[in-house]
Amino acid sequence: MTEQYDVIVIGAGPAGYVAAIRCAQLGLKTACVDDWLSSNDKPSLGGTCLNVGCIPSKALLESSALYANARQDFAKHGIVVPSIKMDISAMMARKDKIVNELSQGIGILFKSNGITLYSGRGKLLPDKHIEIKEFGEEEKRTVSADNVILAPGSSPIDLKAAPLDGHLIVDSSGALGFSEVPARLGIIGAGVIGLELGSMWRRLGSEVVLLEAQEKFLPIADDQIARESHKQFSAQGLDIRLNARVVACEVKNNRVNIDYEDATGTQHETVDKLIVAVGRRPNTSDLCAEEAGLTLEEWGVIHVDAQCMTNLPGVYAIGDASHGPMLAHKGSEEGVMVAEIIAGHSAQVNYDTIPNVIYTEPEIAWIGKTEQRLKSTGTPYRVGKFPFSASGRAKASGDTTGMVKVLADAETDRILGVHMMGPHCSELIAQAGIAMAFGASSEDIAMIMFAHPTLSEAFREAALAVDGRAIHLVKK
Ligand code: FAD
Ligand code: NAD
Repeated sequence: MTEQYDVIVIGAGPAGYVAAIRCAQLGLKTACVDDWLSSNDKPSLGGTCLNVGCIPSKALLESSALYANARQDFAKHGIVVPSIKMDISAMMARKDKIVNELSQGIGILFKSNGITLYSGRGKLLPDKHIEIKEFGEEEKRTVSADNVILAPGSSPIDLKAAPLDGHLIVDSSGALGFSEVPARLGIIGAGVIGLELGSMWRRLGSEVVLLEAQEKFLPIADDQIARESHKQFSAQGLDIRLNARVVACEVKNNRVNIDYEDATGTQHETVDKLIVAVGRRPNTSDLCAEEAGLTLEEWGVIHVDAQCMTNLPGVYAIGDASHGPMLAHKGSEEGVMVAEIIAGHSAQVNYDTIPNVIYTEPEIAWIGKTEQRLKSTGTPYRVGKFPFSASGRAKASGDTTGMVKVLADAETDRILGVHMMGPHCSELIAQAGIAMAFGASSEDIAMIMFAHPTLSEAFREAALAVDGRAIHLVKK
């Protein structure tokens, strides 16, 4: 007999596993199918984010930041360390341990919520049947459900001009496992992954060259923050070449020769390792039988409405494979929303308040509209800015780079966007998220008491600055 569930989730990344847990919490009989295998061929829950994305990259960013601080900044604090050595294999082992623990943690959460886990590949058939090929099983099985949640995630986009060889030319997953620091590292794509991985290996000693096809640096961020951060990254030694389109790569003498074109013609570069980080595409090529009739858009993105419902009733799609930015927290929120809807509740995701963070140093974080977006839509706005150089806490901790910028509607004062660059902005941006979720005005923030001395005060000062009332800014 075909096993029957209320909900089957395909994919146990941050979108799928969160959806499965919320479904189970709501009393729905839930199963989840996931086909991720770790490097030692063991099933590993958590998808891209946990296995080769958010978590391992942040573990290594942290280690590399500590190493760079110990080398460059300890002396400023009067701490003298006779010699500092790097142990890359210990760094990688620490990262792997964190990944394993968190992945096993999801397994424990599944068990405690009574979720059935199938380790293997799932495929959507007509009428909400799912064909499952479990690892180690010869026979496929078919299960069915009243509701299906597709959360298959995404994979790196290949570049014909730079075919991966898994050794010298790698994608972001490969770049999280180098066994030694490349003397000269090339990265194709100065997007979020390029900047985070470039920063990490630069801190550990690599010379880093980023080849970016677009003319403008970081166009998704606020223009001013993009310009300022470009300066900071260049000063750190990231060699960012814009308008650079890679046309060919050749591996020779254990190095990679790159040909790329820029405004002045064809250029050449030679590196010890090359990372290809030019975006990601949805994992939808073998997700559904054709007869199931699922509608896909360009690039294989699953077509959904605002509630993540596909063209097939009772079939939802969430996370990287559906619409919107490819961010773990966006997928998780969609997972919760869909679970609530399946359980008969009303729910929605506010796509206007998705926080974005780039975990470089300085960190870059934003939420809501950029200044250029407000200009292009003709929205009247006021700006308040506050630099961390005027923050007592930033001075005390020795990191005064960057600023907080609040954009508020000129008529209603409602906050429309907050842009940050500087220390701990990945944490500070949550305050802007809370404010915007409650429809706060800059005046609302200005009236709140913040603890002193904290970096958070910069957010309040920026809100005060919208009305020209920042206390710790020189009057112009
Ligand atoms: P995924 O995490 O990709 O999970 C999908 C799962 O489904 C996988 O386990 C996959 O194997 C499985 N699957 C696919 N098809 C099938 C099938 N047919 N049957 C069974 N299983 C299947 N985002 C952030 O928000 N913050 C960050 O700091 C961040 N850092 C990142 C760093 C790097 C290097 C990378 C690569 C990404 C990063 N991201 C970050 C993006 C983030 O990882 C993704 O947005 C997130 O993982 C998407 O979640 P998901 O659940 O949609 O898909
Ligand atoms: P991205 O879209 O951020 O950047 C890719 C960059 O590659 C772009 O700037 C693009 O112009 C450039 N590019 C594309 N083709 C090129 C070519 N042929 N030559 C040179 N440059 C080229 O994508 P990504 O950095 O690969 O990241 C993928 C996804 O993962 C993103 O959507 C991102 O949101 C997510 N991610 C998020 C975080 C985070 O939240 N901190 C971290 C890592 C990844």
